[in-house]
Amino acid sequence: MRTIDHWIGGKPTAGTAHRVGPVYDPATGRQQAEVALADASDVDLAVQAASEAFVSWSQTSLSKRTGILFAFRELVRAHTDELAELITSEHGKVLADARGEVQRGLEVVEFACGIPQLLKGEFSDQVSTGIDSFSFRQPLGVVAGITPFNFPVMVPMWMNPIAIACGNTFVLKPSERVPSASVLLAELWAEAGLPDGVFNVVNGDKVAVDALLDHPDVAAVSFVGSTPIARYVHERATQAGKRVQALGGAKNHAVVLPDADIDFAADHLTAAAFGSAGQRCMAISAAVAVGDAADRLVETLRAKAAAVQVGPGADSTSEMGPVITQQSKDRIIGYVTSAEGQGATLVADGRTIQADALQDGYFVGPTVIDHVTAEMDVYRNEVFGPVLVVLRAETLDDAIALINANPYGNGTSVFTGSGEAARRFQREVHVGMIGINVPIPVPMAYYSFGGWKDSLFGDTHVHGPEGVRFYTRAKVVTSRWPHSETGGGASYSFPTSN
Ligand code: NAD
Repeated sequence: MRTIDHWIGGKPTAGTAHRVGPVYDPATGRQQAEVALADASDVDLAVQAASEAFVSWSQTSLSKRTGILFAFRELVRAHTDELAELITSEHGKVLADARGEVQRGLEVVEFACGIPQLLKGEFSDQVSTGIDSFSFRQPLGVVAGITPFNFPVMVPMWMNPIAIACGNTFVLKPSERVPSASVLLAELWAEAGLPDGVFNVVNGDKVAVDALLDHPDVAAVSFVGSTPIARYVHERATQAGKRVQALGGAKNHAVVLPDADIDFAADHLTAAAFGSAGQRCMAISAAVAVGDAADRLVETLRAKAAAVQVGPGADSTSEMGPVITQQSKDRIIGYVTSAEGQGATLVADGRTIQADALQDGYFVGPTVIDHVTAEMDVYRNEVFGPVLVVLRAETLDDAIALINANPYGNGTSVFTGSGEAARRFQREVHVGMIGINVPIPVPMAYYSFGGWKDSLFGDTHVHGPEGVRFYTRAKVVTSRWPHSETGGGASYSFPTSN
């Protein structure tokens, strides 16, 4: 059985833990590899390598750093298909979707290529007679990234290109279910000329995560995953004195107003709910149909859900692949069954996939459930599968109130022809990322990505300007170069300008 190792200090490293975990192909249900699971000593080795590398990397000129980022960008672009194939084989999403994920990750590298501009400080001349003041930002040291299974390339790339561009060194702990793409990214960083130890990968589970959260030489932690683990990571790492951004789960609502183009809305909702088998943190999982939009919307969704091509991600005719594990499949089916038991109406039922070829994989078909209420389990929990629930609201105000009462606040969208309604929606919802007739409003790399409420613990969003702020800290210098004849004149009162 193929083993996927760590990447520490510029080379593949087996580690000392002798623990391994299975890596499956979700389309067939077969184990395809095993992954090394780090213990605290493996994590310590990686942090040590990163600490040593920080000494010279943090002193490396902006021009040299930028040169490596440009080279990395070209290499990732050239290896897009290889990365996408690794994603599809371990995650299950269709290849076109996997390529899209690599593209969105690349956009962060392109943003990070502008690091000389992004790190420019401020300068004030003559703040007092003969005195200037200026600010600049410096890297933190060793920073860690802990990432989820659903974006094996994009989510790590939300973090490491910016952290590294800012002069930090990085230890990535990817999801143990999809480890291979991270190791290929490490190889590409090395090929781009990144010095050994600047980018490290430790594979593992909770043991590795806890070792990173507690390690005294890790200055900051970026986490993306489910809300309970995000909350835990935030609490434990801040307790250990680290800077933390921890992005959690989601329940993303799309409000459809009666004046919307219903066919357009249903088309986009179907793709946003069932793309990647609903395993996106920005997937639309709840449609809120306002007034008489509801019946028209549900009937259109019924037809569109039935038309989705479900199959292995590597098959170019597939539009939707499997979910990640048998446990995920069981959990999703359990929520659908509970909704039926609690009085909702199944419009499209994906619990049984009939095709023989799909029997062994972790497939769940597109599912639409109507007449869902805020009390039902399928609404109260993040299902993270191809399930779209429909709630009905009388007015836009009712829809906004429903969204604001939900504990999550990652993304949301509104479908309407009214600018007035859209503006009211964008101003009043308590959500971090908002789409107007755009179902999955993932910000471009030069904006920052992040939710509100239980979708994010910590103050800063990822990538974009907030990413640069997260991975650096500010210094302000007050500077005087006295002529010998104007020297002296020290005062015992608090300094004021003159
Ligand atoms: P997860 O929380 O199970 O795992 C995320 C990471 O935490 C993994 O690296 C995993 O090894 C580690 N981990 C798991 N259990 C742990 C524990 N008990 N202690 C310490 N570490 C632990 O999430 P997942 O299932 O891999 O990913 C799906 C989740 O991620 C969904 O909830 C989804 O909404 C969320 N997500 C959020 C965003 C966002 O931007 N807000 C983006 C992508 C995914």
